[in-house]
Amino acid sequence: MLKIKTILGTLAAITLLPPTNQLSVKANPTSSENSTPTEQPKSIYQQAKEELPEDLYALYRILERIARANKLDEKPWRIVIVPKYNINAFATDVNLIAIYNGLLDQLAGDASAIACVVAHEMGHHTEKHIALAPVEKVALIEQIQQETEQEVLAEKQDAQTEATGMSIGGSAARVFGGRAGRVGGAVLGNASRQRLKASQEKINEIVAQKTEELEQTLAEEGRKREFEADEVGYLYSAKAGFEPEGCLRAMKVLGQTPSAEFDTTHPAVPKRIEALKDLMVKFPATSLAEEGKALISETKPLTYDLSKDGASLRVNSSRGGSSADDVERLFDN
Ligand SMILES: [Zn+2]
Repeated sequence: MLKIKTILGTLAAITLLPPTNQLSVKANPTSSENSTPTEQPKSIYQQAKEELPEDLYALYRILERIARANKLDEKPWRIVIVPKYNINAFATDVNLIAIYNGLLDQLAGDASAIACVVAHEMGHHTEKHIALAPVEKVALIEQIQQETEQEVLAEKQDAQTEATGMSIGGSAARVFGGRAGRVGGAVLGNASRQRLKASQEKINEIVAQKTEELEQTLAEEGRKREFEADEVGYLYSAKAGFEPEGCLRAMKVLGQTPSAEFDTTHPAVPKRIEALKDLMVKFPATSLAEEGKALISETKPLTYDLSKDGASLRVNSSRGGSSADDVERLFDN
């Protein structure tokens, strides 16, 4: 995974987004119950279209719709375009979704395919894949070390016993002096050093083997999580009313680049396409879209701001993006 700080640094430097003061859509903190759903959409979307770069505007509209159609608007999301021609996207940090402009270029004109990618990455966040992975790896590595130490403990103790013997041999050599004493101590010392060396080699061997097993397990877990994110991505984007085939089209584009998101932690694209087709039969897109439409009609368009990270677009929660406005809403004097 790329270091997000590096990406944000790069982005801040090349200023993909206009300066903060130009991104001035105000939060809309009034609760959804006392307003009509169609009250403001045009003005917010219109303003977004005018002030955001086209790709970012599209991503805002896509993410905003997916969030509302899936009750994922209780907290803000962040989205950023990484200015590099990679056919890839990823989820990282806190609710941040990053999309390479290579992928946007290849999916140009296909909002449903982009929506499926965005929804897949949102799925990695909602399924807690981001938070779990590093913690699990640290825990597993600790476990390996502990187990290995226990396994070789007996041999280590043997070797240490001999090492103690070596020092006795050494003392004997000093006490008795002469050639015999020195030779006896040296022989015993060599033997115990050999045992210690062998013991250390065994530890290294076991750790190497177990680490390899761990990598395999993590890769397997990674593949499982990709299928989960694919499933969630399909459900989220279909609920938001995007074309379900968009997921298949996105897969085909991803499949053209074996070096993209597809390391050992990702399943093969044909398998992912098959799984998606099964899902489409199991959960028809038309009924999902109906469900999502009902949820969207109960909510209002989400506003946006430049995130305090200085580089990504923050799509605000249903509470809006201004705490100041919220205080004023709560207390008017
Ligand atoms: Zn993924």
